Amino acid sequence: MNPSIKIPPAVQIKLTKLGIHTPFDLVLHLPLRYEDETQITRIDDLVPGETAQAEGEIIHSEVAYRPRRSLICQLQDDSGILFLRFLNFYPSQQKQLAIGKKIRALGEAREGYFGMEMVHPKCHAGGENKALKQALTPVYPTTAGLPQPTLRKYILAALNSVELNDTLPADLLQKLRLPAFDDSVQLLHNPPPQIDEAALLERAHPAWRRIKFDELLAQQLSMRVHYRKRHERIAPQLTAHDFHSSALLKALPFALTRAQQKVLQEIRHDLAQAHPMQRLLQGDVGSGKTVVAALAALQAIENGFQVAFMAPTEILAEQHYLKLRDWLEPLGISPVWLSGSLKKKDKTVAAERIAQGDTQIAVGTHALFQASVEFSKLGLVIVDEQHKFGVQQRLALRGKGNEPHQLMMSATPIPRTLAMSYYADLDVSVIDELPPGRTPIVTKLINDTRREEVFARVRTACLQQRQAYWVCPLIDESEALQLQTAIDTYETLTQIFPEFSVGLVHGKMDNAEKARVMAAFKAGDVHLLVATTVIEVGVDVPNASLMVIEHAERMGLAQLHQLRGRVGRGAAESLCVLLFQQPLSELARARLKIIFENTDGFEIAQQDLRLRGPGELLGARQSGVAMLRFADINEDAKLLETARTLADELLRDAPAVAHAHLQRWMANKPDFLHA
Ligand code: ADP
Ligand code: MG
Repeated sequence: MNPSIKIPPAVQIKLTKLGIHTPFDLVLHLPLRYEDETQITRIDDLVPGETAQAEGEIIHSEVAYRPRRSLICQLQDDSGILFLRFLNFYPSQQKQLAIGKKIRALGEAREGYFGMEMVHPKCHAGGENKALKQALTPVYPTTAGLPQPTLRKYILAALNSVELNDTLPADLLQKLRLPAFDDSVQLLHNPPPQIDEAALLERAHPAWRRIKFDELLAQQLSMRVHYRKRHERIAPQLTAHDFHSSALLKALPFALTRAQQKVLQEIRHDLAQAHPMQRLLQGDVGSGKTVVAALAALQAIENGFQVAFMAPTEILAEQHYLKLRDWLEPLGISPVWLSGSLKKKDKTVAAERIAQGDTQIAVGTHALFQASVEFSKLGLVIVDEQHKFGVQQRLALRGKGNEPHQLMMSATPIPRTLAMSYYADLDVSVIDELPPGRTPIVTKLINDTRREEVFARVRTACLQQRQAYWVCPLIDESEALQLQTAIDTYETLTQIFPEFSVGLVHGKMDNAEKARVMAAFKAGDVHLLVATTVIEVGVDVPNASLMVIEHAERMGLAQLHQLRGRVGRGAAESLCVLLFQQPLSELARARLKIIFENTDGFEIAQQDLRLRGPGELLGARQSGVAMLRFADINEDAKLLETARTLADELLRDAPAVAHAHLQRWMANKPDFLHA
């Protein structure tokens, strides 16, 4: 702490609990609400439901024992009588409220049994010589053992001793129509009596807007600084040669959609720069990200560099491996498969091929970035379903090459404001259309008591040579239970459908066995696949047209959307049945309604954001990034956009201003940049 504010160690311990480490933190410890002790309301004028301060003389005081022990006083002014009631009270209070005392009582007025009353009002000694407060009294978030007046004392001391000069030039503030920083914090801690209190509480007051803007600007600046630093680093320039990629394009049974072409252009352009690309490729499930990634990989390979292609699960990684092998082998490129489940000997062989540069592309799970795997000439890292990986894992892979380019893919669509806020250090490409010829998926919500109907639908689909998934979700957060449910369901369904071949995959299964079942399902030999949520990401079997999800009420929206995306991949009309069990919680009901009414992943994500806030949507990434304290990316989307634009302008035209602003807001947040 600043030497000019002396804080006893016992208080500092409490402050630390509140996340207050510096005098500036005290300045930013803003009130939750305010109490108005600037005026006295006549008892006659008290309005039920409104908080006010009354003053008068105690004319009666008694301890009542029915219905329960309580202290009841009567406060009288020249307009009427107010009852003050205390259920828990100390002898000292009784003394304070003795007959004849002049008292000021602050509380919510209400119609009581005897007349107007306040329950547990805040009481002070009153009288003519007691001056009224000049400003609203802030009420701060605090912690046990740190009373409001103590906290307030140190906050006021900080306001007087911390340097609060503006970080932004006056003409800029005028243009943005924002008040000065100093005025804003002073006002929020000491609002004048005539202020619009509602605007303060709703954080819509200009002073609040200034604080939120500063916070957003600091966030944008720090991420854009990070972005710029990366752009200063050197990476291999992977120019487009186009011989492999045009061969692949020719061999594909489809043409790229316009959206695929557009994002491919963006990626190709980045790869040809001498600076490391860090691009997030977003596209709803089934939008065709894999082929874009394959074409990006070819650009690296054409330049003599290696590619690492990583997926979060064995099933998905293997599926990618098989697909890439089909696409690339005709071009004379043979991918290497590396996963944790390989036998030690095979792993060593794979690692050697990677180290010696015998292979141009390695596909696998996070086993790819284990310390024992050394690439000879890594040029591009592709990470599928990147939100499934922790920040640490991605950083580890980046450390593998000199400075490889990075392409991260995600089918968890992130609303624009959220992307702008938390992915400001990345470039983002979006595939915003699905390949043609897909029939939309029909979603049905069916009560678990009507399971029989669902069996009939499975039978119909399988008889039409289509295939179906039956997904058992995580129950009670227990993997063992999920497993048991899946096994039980598998056994039941095997009995119900003796005429069909039923398969089972789950996370605890031997990898070879898992791969065998998936291959059989892909080949059409298994008609109905019972699965845990291991199939959530990426699995691509176009002939599957029915998805049944048990206990859909327990699943998150992103997960439901991902699972539903496993069907609707071919031309046949697809159906997703969400089985639910009553009673439904309010949140579950809201989620099921959203998934039922929407098919667009971005819309679902936007509504999810409204339902849950950004924390959960961001998953692993948030761990590395400080969350916003004051701004709300939904409500303050406009401020966010302004902050984004201004951040780039400042870094380009006024780096000293940018630096000063970062210094003020980020000085004690070294972790902020490490994502
Ligand atoms: P995701 O974006 O969810 O990873 P995939 O890359 O798995 O999607 O693609 C889904 C399916 O669509 C695959 O079977 C893929 O071969 C196919 N596909 C990709 N692009 C096109 C296209 N332009 N036209 C038709 N089918 C396509
Ligand atoms: Mg995919």
